[in-house]
Amino acid sequence: MKDMHEPAPDLVRAAHIDSDGYAEMYARSVNDPEGFWGDEAKRLDWITQPTKIKNTTFAYPDVSIKWFEDGELNVAANCVDRHLETRGDQTAIIWEPDDVSDEAQHITYRELHTRVCKFANVLKELGVKKGDRVVIYLPMIPEAAYAMLACARIGAIHSIVFAGFSPDALANRVDDCEAKVVITSDGAPRGGRVTNLKDNVNQALVHSAEDPAVLIVKRTGQQIAFRSNGDYWLHEMEEKVGDDCPPETMNAEDPLFILYTSGSTGKPKGVVHSSGGYLLYAAITHQYTFDYHDGDVFWCTADVGWVTGHSYIVYGPLANGATTLMFEGVPTYPDAGRFWACCEKHKVNQFYTAPTAIRALMGKGTSFVEGYDLSSIRILGTVGEPINPEAWNWYNDVVGKGRCPIVDTWWQTETGGHLITPLPGATPTKPGSATTPFFGVRPVVLDPQTAVVQEETATEGVLAIADSWPGQMRTVWGDHERFVKTYFEQYKGYYFSGDGCRRDEDGYYWITGRVDDVINVSGHRMGTAEVESSLVAHPAVSEAAVVGYPHEVKGQGIYCYVTLMEGQEPSDALVKELQTHVRSDIGPIAKPDVIQWAPGLPKTRSGKIMRRILRKIAENDFGSLGDTSTLAEPEVVDHLIANRPQT
Ligand code: ATP
Ligand code: MG
Repeated sequence: MKDMHEPAPDLVRAAHIDSDGYAEMYARSVNDPEGFWGDEAKRLDWITQPTKIKNTTFAYPDVSIKWFEDGELNVAANCVDRHLETRGDQTAIIWEPDDVSDEAQHITYRELHTRVCKFANVLKELGVKKGDRVVIYLPMIPEAAYAMLACARIGAIHSIVFAGFSPDALANRVDDCEAKVVITSDGAPRGGRVTNLKDNVNQALVHSAEDPAVLIVKRTGQQIAFRSNGDYWLHEMEEKVGDDCPPETMNAEDPLFILYTSGSTGKPKGVVHSSGGYLLYAAITHQYTFDYHDGDVFWCTADVGWVTGHSYIVYGPLANGATTLMFEGVPTYPDAGRFWACCEKHKVNQFYTAPTAIRALMGKGTSFVEGYDLSSIRILGTVGEPINPEAWNWYNDVVGKGRCPIVDTWWQTETGGHLITPLPGATPTKPGSATTPFFGVRPVVLDPQTAVVQEETATEGVLAIADSWPGQMRTVWGDHERFVKTYFEQYKGYYFSGDGCRRDEDGYYWITGRVDDVINVSGHRMGTAEVESSLVAHPAVSEAAVVGYPHEVKGQGIYCYVTLMEGQEPSDALVKELQTHVRSDIGPIAKPDVIQWAPGLPKTRSGKIMRRILRKIAENDFGSLGDTSTLAEPEVVDHLIANRPQT
């Protein structure tokens, strides 16, 4: 079949599962979820074995989701304590600091245990109890993982706020979850620059309605301003406490953490995840999606401030007794070869990153990849946005040398772990497709207007899920009604993802972008991803974002923001060339009406393009850009407004 990538036979033989195994296990998982998940629950250590496996309903408005509801466990004990006997001296976390000349750290499971227990005792000293909320605002340092696990150990609910967020964004989250403690550091080195995190916390708390204690990790040693009271150094507190801290007994349904979504489509939602179901789902997806085997070194480049970092730097890998790499820096510092230098140095076996990083590195040319020994890499992964086939092919050819399966994992903060993804030994891949559902996941394609389930294999519409899976979010913190309304109101009986998709004749899913981003040109509905992929396939283009804007004749016209490759110059001739390129690639209906050169695109701090802001600019409506609190570089927006072409 055209452009189908089969995994190599030796990889299939060594993999946890091949295509027949997948078909069999998948069938059982959806036909007998109780039996399937009851068996899978054995991958965790329970204090009380669950006997009630699944108790879930998507019926509007009485949505209720409970998994393993009479089971009791402790997440930190599952991620640390239970490995001590068999792998106490194995590295749990490899930490690669921002500065290449600083030494990497290898933290064993035994050291991890001591650090987590001490950290947990410090939190107790500060009065933190089961059910209390703790905000974590830290750089990518091992203490971030210690802090998460320390909370889990004593039953506190953590909420991580990405260290790149402003004091305002931090204050909003501290207030929303009524945090008792904020954990931060003096400073956060990233890409050779330092953010004064403690200053940000001070500013945030001036505006906050809460009065949390602040626990400070010493990272840079820089001067910091202490508030008049309530500030504590972690290392000083640790001198006062012992390293014995028995894990709290938690119900499977007790919240493990709150995490705010990226804000691509509006005000961030405080997503609440459970202890039992979430951990189980993070662990099983980590094992199968990345074909993780004992002894492998796993690297997810996300920040722990995103769900990807929660599930695939900390909880999934550590539940599986893995070695997980944590990287403090950025892909382009000291140069665009940093990822590959790090893969070579630590002999990484699975590498997991985002399309935004791949496109950025692709734009710098192949010279930064060549010269590094990437032979240890077996599996490549991507998450966060649809990956353009051009970027997929670059990843496959230049990084993977054509021998590493690429797992394009579709999921959301809300889903806890992968929902649609290839499994390396089981699923032939197609560039740009997230392929097929994970165990227990029942995707459906609905007609956006009539909500009717599209039964035929090849079809298009909105992507929804017909039944619950253990990693599903349980509620929006403090606003259960928003939870029900956002995900279950519009399409009754289903979890609505907010994403559009196409399913091809092989049953493969292709995410076409947010439903809000679908454009209607002369009566033809079009996902923005397709036009963007076509633009990115042109050799001059490194990145593109497409939105609709009001058009007198067509209803909506196609407005494209285009970032050029290094060394390329904008010109009228290039505009014409790109228009012709898309026209011949997709069809006359997709021909761009407007092309605006964009040296940068507005992105969330997690690197996703914020099309809702681009839509406002295209519509000439600059007054109401909506929630911009999670925008990475606000000046990018000013530049685009100032340079908007006349339409
Ligand atoms: P908000 O919900 O606040 O608007 P967000 O949706 O960006 O923010 P996340 O949970 O971080 O918050 O992102 C999930 C979304 O990312 C998915 O709904 C989808 O649009 C996109 N996405 C993630 N992985 C993929 C993928 N592999 N292919 C296509 N799209 C993806
Ligand atoms: Mg979302």
